[in-house]
Amino acid sequence: MRVYRSIRSLAKKVSEIKKRKKTIGLVPTMGFLHEGHASLIRKARKDTGCVIVSIFINPAQFGPGEDFKKYPRNLKKDLDLCEKEGADIIFVPEAREMYPDGYSTHVNVEGITEKLCGISRPGHFRGVTTVVTKLFNITMPDIAYFGQKDCQQAIVIKKMALDLNMDVDIKVMPVVRGKNGLAMSSRNVYLGEDERVQAASLYKALRLARRLFNQGERNSGKIISKMKQVISKEPAAKIDYIAIVDTKELKAIKKISGVALVAVAVRVGNTRLIDNVILN
Ligand code: AMP
Repeated sequence: MRVYRSIRSLAKKVSEIKKRKKTIGLVPTMGFLHEGHASLIRKARKDTGCVIVSIFINPAQFGPGEDFKKYPRNLKKDLDLCEKEGADIIFVPEAREMYPDGYSTHVNVEGITEKLCGISRPGHFRGVTTVVTKLFNITMPDIAYFGQKDCQQAIVIKKMALDLNMDVDIKVMPVVRGKNGLAMSSRNVYLGEDERVQAASLYKALRLARRLFNQGERNSGKIISKMKQVISKEPAAKIDYIAIVDTKELKAIKKISGVALVAVAVRVGNTRLIDNVILN
């Protein structure tokens, strides 16, 4: 396993790999890696000949007042996890390497980025699609791996790759959860002990949605209001949104007939958490 910090040296390595006709799998991350990230790396290891993990806390996807400065980091531990999971190349650029002085180009997917998380995090997805485009151009992956945990992000990236004819397969892997059902996230480290217990209400509410659906309930309004009751019981929880939408355009669904995405964003104390399930 080798660590690269410069785009130029990594690009040189990538062109060697391409010459040897090895397939490249890319796992983009912001570090402070956990079992969710590990599941993506393992899948990339299975599928491809060369696994590249990027670790970059992308300033462009944080809004003013968000947690960019305090976002958790532990490169030593991250490298250990990558090594253990069999990654070949780790790309850890500095922000000025990715966005040198005078940087002025951005990629924006319209429409679907203005819904759900896009409402309370304007500009967030523009930062994501810009950095992912750069990472694709630098690492030239055959397959790139994303987590269903960030469901809107995965949908936006797929749309971007389709619209811009990017020659890369986007694979989306299931949400990895802790024992109490809480979706793993680097940000969970912000949660106090009691907040962590309360944070389990997101998945409790999502499980309730699935149960109601399985019992035949198709009215989204009814499902959402029962989910609200579950989360509102927790004193530290403040709901940003609970939505039932289609999986392409993220349009609200009133009566569920086909596949539906149930997505939630909740602030628990000062920590914003997201989670989702698919009803099928
Ligand atoms: P992040 O470091 O939070 O930007 O996440 C990097 C990638 O890992 C994204 O594609 C996430 O969706 C994915 N990921 C994060 N948490 C999980 C999880 N609990 N289960 C599956 N994938 C995850």
